[in-house]
Amino acid sequence: MKALAVDIGGTHANCGLVENESILAYESIDIASAVNIRAVLSRVAELFHRLVKDQSLSFDGFQGIAVGFPGLVDCRISRVVSTNKKYDDAPEVDFCAWAREAFGLPLRIENDARMALLGESYAGAARGFGDVVMMTLGTGIGGVAMIEGELLRGKHSQAGCLGGHIPVLFNGRPCTCGGIGCAEAEASGWSLPAIVKDFPGVSESRLSKYSHVGFKQLFEEAARGDKTALAIRDRCLNIWAADAVALVHAYDPEVIVIGGGVMESANIIIPYVEAHVHKYAWTPWGKVKVRPAELANNAALVGAVPLLSEEISRKSSQT
Ligand SMILES: [Zn+2]
Repeated sequence: MKALAVDIGGTHANCGLVENESILAYESIDIASAVNIRAVLSRVAELFHRLVKDQSLSFDGFQGIAVGFPGLVDCRISRVVSTNKKYDDAPEVDFCAWAREAFGLPLRIENDARMALLGESYAGAARGFGDVVMMTLGTGIGGVAMIEGELLRGKHSQAGCLGGHIPVLFNGRPCTCGGIGCAEAEASGWSLPAIVKDFPGVSESRLSKYSHVGFKQLFEEAARGDKTALAIRDRCLNIWAADAVALVHAYDPEVIVIGGGVMESANIIIPYVEAHVHKYAWTPWGKVKVRPAELANNAALVGAVPLLSEEISRKSSQT
């Protein structure tokens, strides 16, 4: 099966022509200045027309388009249900009508982290497992679940996809979702600068020389032995590990796959989270495996074919 695949992020839209688990062509568009989702879609349409032409293909050869969106999505009706301060016009947009007009193709849209889990399950670190939790550690924290081979969606399409908004500190920091002490309010790309700024002793730390501290700088300074950087890094590891234990208790996975930009430091994160889960999760049947994601930024794109296949198998089971 061939599919168009789009993974819409906060600053970039990754677009690919995919055939089963292979990416035939790929380009990332900078959409940081896009005023709304309609502006993003018009640039995505332009790009796909060029990519398809460059590959000497035509849209007739594609089964559909799959879109990963960073918000709550009801993929049964192909609508965005709720946004979190990004692309707030998206719930009003008829994505299926856009895809018909732009390419003459059917469309499915899903939460971006769910699509990444489909990709890792189809051709990555979760291949061969039916019960999986995936955590994506980046600007925010994605946490999604697959149970008995099916993505968990739930009545309001929000089951299993709010793993970053599990509270890990009841009296913690305010989160963008309206909650308090969510994992991503305590240890994610967007919350890290404020955490660093407020951390005791930071003015004597090498971290104070940076205008913006991301996880890259934090892990580098911790590796050089900066005591404050080490303390903040270890705090982040504990937050992620506590979130992982909560996800194990909620969803009963065999394996946790961890992805996201921070996984450049997978050699530190994976053993830490795994040891914590083995020590603190109640799993009398055995040990949950903790593995790094294998598909990096391509995971959601590789999820396109299984997402479209789900719809095809659903329709065929109804007839
Ligand atoms: Zn939250």
